[in-house]
Amino acid sequence: MSLAGKVVIVTGASSGIGAAAATAFAQHGSKVVITGRNEANLKATEAACKAANSKVELLVIAADVTTDAEKIIKTTIDKFGQLDVLVNNAGFGEMGSILDIDVDQFDRVMNTNVRSVFLLTKYAAPHLVKTQGNIVNVSSVAGLRSFPGASVYCTSKAALDQFTRCIALDLAPKNVRVNAVNPGVIITEFHKRLGMSEADYAKYLEHSKTTHALGRVGEPKEVADAIIFLASDSSSFITGATLPIDGGKHAMCPR
Ligand code: NDP
Repeated sequence: MSLAGKVVIVTGASSGIGAAAATAFAQHGSKVVITGRNEANLKATEAACKAANSKVELLVIAADVTTDAEKIIKTTIDKFGQLDVLVNNAGFGEMGSILDIDVDQFDRVMNTNVRSVFLLTKYAAPHLVKTQGNIVNVSSVAGLRSFPGASVYCTSKAALDQFTRCIALDLAPKNVRVNAVNPGVIITEFHKRLGMSEADYAKYLEHSKTTHALGRVGEPKEVADAIIFLASDSSSFITGATLPIDGGKHAMCPR
């Protein structure tokens, strides 16, 4: 897949999709920068990467993407001297009808899901131009479709999709590709972090079988496989794309 020896940053690598993506890059022989806030979880991802490839070169950066974007890029360049792939995966949601949500919730979600991606992209871009590298953003089916009680999250992911297309055009003349994946429901900590109880989460996963055309929810590895494809030369003529990894959820319409 042409990823051996490439320097790859994965944000939100301490859990779920990011942890699976970091492990997949390690398996492909990349030098992987694992970043997130939870240090115990970062250690677990570090161990998974080493289990996947005992010779993998890793850099672990405990950092918050909303405040430490410049540090993440600088520490990577200081250690490896170059950057080939940036995976903007860190993200979260806050739910509520417009009658209930407040501007602090809006700011928190937009800061993490959009503003931090802008900053990481801005600091990474000159290095990606040097290596003719690429960016993969982890968006959501919520960027492509609308869901009640999720206006802030949906708006943040739609903004991320549009940012993906615009930056793809900015960087295409430099041969730097920029794409996004748009997952459907994937089994991670994401929904529990929204405040769902175990019982509600179990019910939600059962209900989700009916909202995904393939009749099931997804696994982090299924998203990681698509990230690997978009980061590799196998997708050398793809840029500005938003690729649903959602068992057909984006194609469905209630009847
Ligand atoms: P998880 O909750 O399992 O993981 C989220 C990751 O994001 C964690 O590693 C977390 O780090 C990190 N993160 C969040 N905020 C920050 C921050 N401010 N600074 C640094 N790291 C941060 O969820 P997923 O793996 O599911 O989520 C990954 C991406 O996938 C998100 O962008 C999400 O929106 C998207 N997505 C997920 C779907 C799903 O059904 N799971 C569906 C569609 C999209 P830490 O724990 O160390 O703080």
